[in-house]
Amino acid sequence: MNAKVDEHLDALLAWLLPPQCTLCGAAGSERLPLCDACRGELPYLGRACERCAQPLPVAGVCGRCLRHPPPQDRARAAFRYATPLDRLVQRLKFGRRLGVARLLGALLAKAAQSGHWELPGLLIPVPLHDTRLRQRGYDQAQAIAHEAGRRLGIPVDAHACRRVRATAPQTGLALADRRRNVRGAFAVQKPPAVSHVAVVDDVMTTGATAGALALALKRAGVARVDVWALCRAGR
Ligand SMILES: [Zn+2]
Ligand SMILES: [Zn+2]
Repeated sequence: MNAKVDEHLDALLAWLLPPQCTLCGAAGSERLPLCDACRGELPYLGRACERCAQPLPVAGVCGRCLRHPPPQDRARAAFRYATPLDRLVQRLKFGRRLGVARLLGALLAKAAQSGHWELPGLLIPVPLHDTRLRQRGYDQAQAIAHEAGRRLGIPVDAHACRRVRATAPQTGLALADRRRNVRGAFAVQKPPAVSHVAVVDDVMTTGATAGALALALKRAGVARVDVWALCRAGR
């Protein structure tokens, strides 16, 4: 079925049927497919480095970021990339997606609210390259950003930046190779008219990809660029 039709159908079903917890099948809460018990057991990130979102025992900036400050001013993540978030993110890539996108976007918005993240004037999802988007037919960072933005009252611009170079998959590359792999991968097509933006991604692993986009935005004149990730994978 056409992806757009599929999404509309998902939206209609979500509206007609009371949502069930996608993890355990109990009744969902707040019209989301997640129950309160399962929400309470999610792998919340907790204390983390302000610049790269790596877990830290104390508040502040990690040694690596002190030695080599990343391009972004702040990095925030809601969860560790662990069960069940890994399964949910995978489901977003392959499967019935709109309900999961709504759920993950809502969870990101709730993390921003409860963690008192400084709200930017614009959210910019990390763009996929056109060929990758055509293969997959769905952009999960964009879907999460739209739902989070809607809930937080922050506009989303999915067309401000473009991935100008298809990059090799980052999986299995060391940090230095990942940085090299994504260097110059993004172009800012429409410099944002706000001074504070957040780049949104589903999973932040080394931060090289989101960092490359943050650098492009800073070079385009944005004073403050944060990274918001739904999940932070460990080093
Ligand atoms: Zn549940
Ligand atoms: Zn750090």
